[in-house]
Amino acid sequence: MLIPKTHPRATSLYIREKLVQGFKGGLVVEEGLLAHGRGEMFDYLIGEKTSKTSHKAIKAAARALLAAKSPVISVNGNFAALCAKEIVELSKITGSKIEVNLFYASEKRKKAIANILKKNGAKEILGVSPKFAKKIPKLDSARRVVDKRGIFSADVVLVPLEDGDRTIALKKFGKDVITFDLNPMSRTAQTADITIVDNVVRGMKILVDVCKKLAKEELEERPKFDNKKNLKKSIGTIRKNLRRMANA
Ligand code: ATP
Ligand code: MG
Repeated sequence: MLIPKTHPRATSLYIREKLVQGFKGGLVVEEGLLAHGRGEMFDYLIGEKTSKTSHKAIKAAARALLAAKSPVISVNGNFAALCAKEIVELSKITGSKIEVNLFYASEKRKKAIANILKKNGAKEILGVSPKFAKKIPKLDSARRVVDKRGIFSADVVLVPLEDGDRTIALKKFGKDVITFDLNPMSRTAQTADITIVDNVVRGMKILVDVCKKLAKEELEERPKFDNKKNLKKSIGTIRKNLRRMANA
């Protein structure tokens, strides 16, 4: 049976295709495909749409990025394959630097990621030159390298689809961490200051739009955002959906 274009399943198949293309183009590694599979499962459980709770987190993230002194967007292979255009847009609106930061680092893959971002209009990409490499404490060697001009000296860091060890290390290093993570129970989701429980493909478009709107307004004091409470609501949505499916 053909799936209608408007059905959420069609979007999920389109996203999968983008990731496979990213894999063939050298942006994504095998492990990235598996991590995506985990994300897809949680996307199914949250109903493959952006919830009110996620909208709230997106608004808090937009405010934090716009108010930051040196915000940085950390980019891995999956994020670049799925959202290259939105990453560049977001960096321009919020004045954020873009840094390539990989779990499975390789010079070739860093270059491929930098290239796709440049193709989408990025001027400067950090994290590719060993000249500016610095180490964040409390992480094992290969994964602790960041750019001196980027994550190392940032106050706010957007790290989507990130591993828990890294998020914990960034928090210990004093960074304000924003993430996109479809799994509200992951260590990253639980450790970040602002967790957007949504697919990056849907959520980044909304984040860009909200930033555009807020950039025109005078930003008052940042309203308090309770990440733990927000995460509990996302877990509640999953519970509700499971109960509905079980009773159907
Ligand atoms: P943690 O290390 O934080 O405990 P994990 O080991 O389960 O989490 P990782 O592979 O380290 O997972 O990180 C990838 C995370 O990204 C997963 O939680 C996954 O659900 C999420 N994810 C995958 N694809 C997407 C996507 N397209 N949008 C948002 N989140 C995604
Ligand atoms: Mg992990």
